[in-house]
Amino acid sequence: MPTSEHPGAAPSPALRPPQFNARGWRLHRLAHSPLGRYGLAVLSTALALLIQLALGRFIYPTPFLLFFGAVMVSSWWGGGRPGLLAITLSLGAVDYFFFPPFHSFKLEPGNALLLGLFAVIGGIVSRLNVALRRTSAERAEMLERERQVRRETETERARLHELLMQAPSLVALFQGPEHVFLLSNPPSDEALGHRPVLGKPIREAMPEAVEQGFVALLDRVFTTGTVFKAQEMFMKFLQPDGSQREYFLNLVCQPTRDVQGRIDGVATFGFDVTDFVRARQKAEALTAQLQRTEERYVSFVNQSTEGIFRVDVTSPIPITMPVEEQIRIMLRDAYVVECNDAMARMYGFDNAAVFMGARMRTFLAQEDSRNFAALRGFIQSGYRQVDLESHELARDGTSRIFLNNLVGIIENGHFLGAWGSQRDVTEQRHAEEELKRAESHARFLSEASAVLASSLDYESNLRNVVRLAVPALADWCLVDLAQPDGALRRVETVYSSPEDAEQTLQAQRLGINGELSLESPVLQAFHQGRSILIQELTPEIIQESAKTEELAQLIARLHPRSVIAVPLVVRGRVLGVLSFITSHSGRRLTNVELKLMEELARRAALSVENAWLYRDAREAIRLRDEFLSIASHELKTPLTPLSLKLQMLTREAQRQSDSPFRRAVENYITVGSRQVKKLSELVSDLLDVARIGGGRLRLELEEMDLSALAREIVVRGESEAARLGSTLVLEAPPSVIGHWDRLRLEQVITNLVDNAIKYGAGKPIRIQLESDADRAILRVKDEGIGIAPEHLSRIFERFERAVSERHYGGLGLGLYITRTIVEAMGGSIQVESTLGEGATFTVVLPRRPREAPSSAG
Ligand code: ADP
Repeated sequence: MPTSEHPGAAPSPALRPPQFNARGWRLHRLAHSPLGRYGLAVLSTALALLIQLALGRFIYPTPFLLFFGAVMVSSWWGGGRPGLLAITLSLGAVDYFFFPPFHSFKLEPGNALLLGLFAVIGGIVSRLNVALRRTSAERAEMLERERQVRRETETERARLHELLMQAPSLVALFQGPEHVFLLSNPPSDEALGHRPVLGKPIREAMPEAVEQGFVALLDRVFTTGTVFKAQEMFMKFLQPDGSQREYFLNLVCQPTRDVQGRIDGVATFGFDVTDFVRARQKAEALTAQLQRTEERYVSFVNQSTEGIFRVDVTSPIPITMPVEEQIRIMLRDAYVVECNDAMARMYGFDNAAVFMGARMRTFLAQEDSRNFAALRGFIQSGYRQVDLESHELARDGTSRIFLNNLVGIIENGHFLGAWGSQRDVTEQRHAEEELKRAESHARFLSEASAVLASSLDYESNLRNVVRLAVPALADWCLVDLAQPDGALRRVETVYSSPEDAEQTLQAQRLGINGELSLESPVLQAFHQGRSILIQELTPEIIQESAKTEELAQLIARLHPRSVIAVPLVVRGRVLGVLSFITSHSGRRLTNVELKLMEELARRAALSVENAWLYRDAREAIRLRDEFLSIASHELKTPLTPLSLKLQMLTREAQRQSDSPFRRAVENYITVGSRQVKKLSELVSDLLDVARIGGGRLRLELEEMDLSALAREIVVRGESEAARLGSTLVLEAPPSVIGHWDRLRLEQVITNLVDNAIKYGAGKPIRIQLESDADRAILRVKDEGIGIAPEHLSRIFERFERAVSERHYGGLGLGLYITRTIVEAMGGSIQVESTLGEGATFTVVLPRRPREAPSSAG
């Protein structure tokens, strides 16, 4: 701190030690030497004498006055002895010069008394002077010492002030019970936002200190005198811009005392540890976070259902080593260094602790080429692999399949181990295989069904079906069918491997009846009518199966492993045997395949049965059609003469005179004629059906007027309609010309109109005809009983009816014939109906059929 700010620190000029130059210093020394002191006594006395001599007459009668001065000067300056010298010299001088007898040392008694008095007073003066001089010197010395002390104090204070101002901590000095700011060093100023605080009480200068308890703290220190210390005390300082600055301070509040030792203020020292505390808090937060992360990681690892592990190899493997060699060492040396419980459990261990240290070779099937290939992939992809499949063995020897994610640990060109996680996918794989197998079985069955339905030749169907089974299900398939003599004949042998061809042919040549024993699976299945499964064919079974050694050897050379023989049972009769054999594929046939083959055999048997049924049905239909054809011819033959006879009878009756008898006869004739007409229509229908069935329906196309035909039929049907209470209304243009078969169209319209009358419930019937350039459209509408929706689609089929025979007679052939004729002319027929509200039949005919079909069926 500059001294000028503290004038008190500089000594006052009055008390400054005398300043001398070199000459002055010598004079000073001389004056204080014995010579100087005594010389001054002599000189001052001499000076007093001279002045006395010169001024004697003016200062008479006291010659001593000036000599007193000499004595005072001598004793003041030189001390007691020079004073004494001056007294002595003054006595001599006064006696000699001023007491009679003058210029003599003789004395009168009166003067001697005066001299004596002078000597005594001079002595006293001299002593007083000496004492005064000493006192004054001591005082000067004391003053000087005090000045010195004050100077030192000021310096100290200045130094302390300087020190406090320079201190790197926050320093503030407070004075009095109101804690008036006495000092605030720059760091403290900085914290306070450079507010003017000096000279102000803290409550005014720093109001925020109140609520933070800082004022109470100062109060306590001030009143009790105890020192307050706090570590990392949190304090907030308001800033002029309204913000606040936060500090962590190591705080010391100490009372200050005045000279009397009374507490006059408080000194506070705050060491700013904010950065440190913040850094530590951050570090603590980070540590906590890290800990949480680690805890999370540990709990994740522990709770993970995936196995998490690290394996190491006992000695590092150079990555430049040949891959095969690396794999060999890995498989031999890798052991578990870290793992979670889930990992241990995958191998059948209770927890990680017991699994740790386990050698992987114990679990990783070394001879399994899949593991070898997987590790090769791992190495070749840079010691990193996702979903690497490993085939391993659990503790109890069961095989497991794991999917691994592996990351190798490589250091200085060496493989040290790997981190990994693994999932047990054994069940999944098994399920997938199961699913695949089920899918392939389902596919096989559906393909087989398609083949079986493809033709009615069941022998060739069976041959084709067993081909589907090779090589998907078996390496060999045999089809043996029973012959009329009851013996089995091999009709098909299918093999998957061309190498088997030669032996297959030989086996074929050897036949099956002569050389196969009854113990053989094929004959067992055939004779017992039940399926046979042999999962592992032993040499003994082969021996037992073959009657001759040659056949036994031949079979043995084919290395069969499993066999399934299923009988083909149709209507309780064993028709043959299907056999499935595995050999070089090494596959083992199980109950699963047995079930499949049984299902195949069942379907095959069903298809055989269907083929038989179909054959029987076709035969029955053929016989029926043949009968129909013959019967209708036979029925028609007597009808023509009968109706002629009836016509003749009518004419005969008309010639008779009117009588009740004639009327009765005419009545019978009318009924008879109607019945004959109906009968001949029925017979015609039967004939037509027989024709259609035999493909003999012929069309005679000609240009004709459909409108005229419809009119004709309506006129003809009116009486029958009237008989049943209906009316026939025709709505038709004058003519609708087209290229059609006249008789067949007559049949179509008659059928539809007759049905409308028959099922029309005595309500009006409308026949509508319209046409456009290409088509003629005929509608026959009635308001009768209608047709239930479920019957609509089938009434156009042969013999199909939607009414009970008790209420309505009929064969169910009219609509069948109608549809056949309409379709034969390139047209179509449809029906719309609501039960109880009538039916509308719509026939659409092309005016000119594209090509006149000659037949329909
Ligand atoms: P049928 O009349 O001899 O029984 P069809 O082949 O002419 O034989 O008719 C088949 C069936 O269609 C009839 O049995 C009848 O149930 C139904 N059907 C035909 N036409 C009508 C109609 N207009 N109204 C109600 N039902 C009809």
